[in-house]
Amino acid sequence: MRKINQFIDGKEYLSKSDRLGDIFNPAQGEKIAEVSLANKRDVDAAIESALNVKQKWASTPPLTRSRIFFKFKELILRDMDKLAHALTEEHGKILSDSQGSITRGMEVVEFACGIPHLLKGEFSENVGSEIDSWSMRQPLGISVGISPFNFPAMVPMWMFVVSIACGNCFILKPSEKDPTVPMMLAELLTEAGLPDGVFNVINGDKEAVDLLITNPHVDSVSFVGSTPVAEYIYHTSTQHNKRVQSLGGAKNHMIIMPDADLDQVVDGLMGAGYGSAGERCMALSVAVAVGDVGDKLIEKLTPRVQSLKVGPGTDPEVEMGPVISKQHLNKVRSYVDAGVEEGAQLIVDGRPISLQGYENGYFIGGCLFDNVTSEMKIYKEEIFGPVLSVVRKPTFDDALEMLNNHEFGNGTTIYTRDGDTARAFTNKCQIGMVGVNVPIPVPMAFHSFGGWKRSLFGDHAMHGMEGVRFFTRLKTVTSRWPTGIRKGAEFIIPTMK
Ligand code: NAD
Repeated sequence: MRKINQFIDGKEYLSKSDRLGDIFNPAQGEKIAEVSLANKRDVDAAIESALNVKQKWASTPPLTRSRIFFKFKELILRDMDKLAHALTEEHGKILSDSQGSITRGMEVVEFACGIPHLLKGEFSENVGSEIDSWSMRQPLGISVGISPFNFPAMVPMWMFVVSIACGNCFILKPSEKDPTVPMMLAELLTEAGLPDGVFNVINGDKEAVDLLITNPHVDSVSFVGSTPVAEYIYHTSTQHNKRVQSLGGAKNHMIIMPDADLDQVVDGLMGAGYGSAGERCMALSVAVAVGDVGDKLIEKLTPRVQSLKVGPGTDPEVEMGPVISKQHLNKVRSYVDAGVEEGAQLIVDGRPISLQGYENGYFIGGCLFDNVTSEMKIYKEEIFGPVLSVVRKPTFDDALEMLNNHEFGNGTTIYTRDGDTARAFTNKCQIGMVGVNVPIPVPMAFHSFGGWKRSLFGDHAMHGMEGVRFFTRLKTVTSRWPTGIRKGAEFIIPTMK
């Protein structure tokens, strides 16, 4: 059985822990590897490795760091197929989607290649007589990142690429469900010329996370995962004086106005509702049909959901793969059961499914509910599976109110042909990432990714300039040279006359 260890000091590190986690191929429902679950000795080794190199890396010219990322990008492209296959094997999503997610991560690398420009400070000449002042952004020191199973390449790259480019050392604790791709990325970074110790991977579970986020040498914590854990990470890390960005779960609504192009709406809902089996934090899980558009929407959507091609992610004909684990499959099924019990109308039932040759895989077909209401569990909670709820609302204001009352505020979108309505929506919704006639409004690498409300704890979104600000500390220097005017001691705060 293949065993996945730790990655410390630029190479594989044999874990000192005897605890192991199981890795499955979700399409087959078979165990394919084991991952060591780090203990204190492993975590201490990663911290020590980062401490050894932290000063040197912080003073390495940003242009040198940038050139390593240029090389890293080339290596990602060279190994794209290998990375995508490894991702699909452990996660289950279709290969083209795995590639797409790696590309979205690579775009953060492209952004970071411009780090010499991004780190430029500001300069003011003569803030006082012959006194100049400038600001600069310096690295924090050691950053920790904890990532979820659903994007084992892209989400770690949101974090470590910007952190390292800013001059920090980074310790990644990837999801213990699909750790192979993060380990491959670590090897590529070494090959690209990143000094040993700047990037370490600690595989593990809560034990490793708790050791990392309470360690006195750690300066910042970036987290992406479910909301209860995001909240815990935020509170625990801030109590230990870390800078924290902690992204949580979601329940993303699409508002469908009566004037919307319904073919585009249905295409958007199919991809964003069922792509990656709904296991995306930007998945659309609620379609709010405004006015009389509900019946037409259900009529067009139903045959598309019924004919969704479900199967192993390696099959190029397949549109949707399995969910991540047996446990998660049972959880998604139980949500569908709950929806039926609570009185929602199950239009398409994806629960009965059997795929020849993949009988043990964690598959569920696309599910579609109509007449869902805001009191129902399937509306309130994040299902993280291929289950789309249609809610009907008489007016735009009712739809907006419902959306804004939801505890999550990650992403949303509106489909309409009316500019006035679209503007009112983008202006008034209490959500971090907003689309207009775009199904999944995931910001590009040079913008920043982050939700509002209980979808993000902390002040900074990820990557883009928000990332640069998060991973650096501002320093402002005010300087006068001794040839300037000498006035003796002054006991009032300096002001300009
Ligand atoms: P998860 O919260 O179970 O796990 C995320 C990480 O936290 C993993 O590395 C895991 O090992 C660790 N972890 C789990 N329980 C912990 C605990 N009790 N204490 C400390 N660490 C713990 O999330 P997941 O199931 O891997 O991912 C799915 C969730 O992530 C969904 O809720 C999804 O919405 C969310 N997500 C959010 C975003 C975003 O940008 N907002 C992006 C992707 C995924």
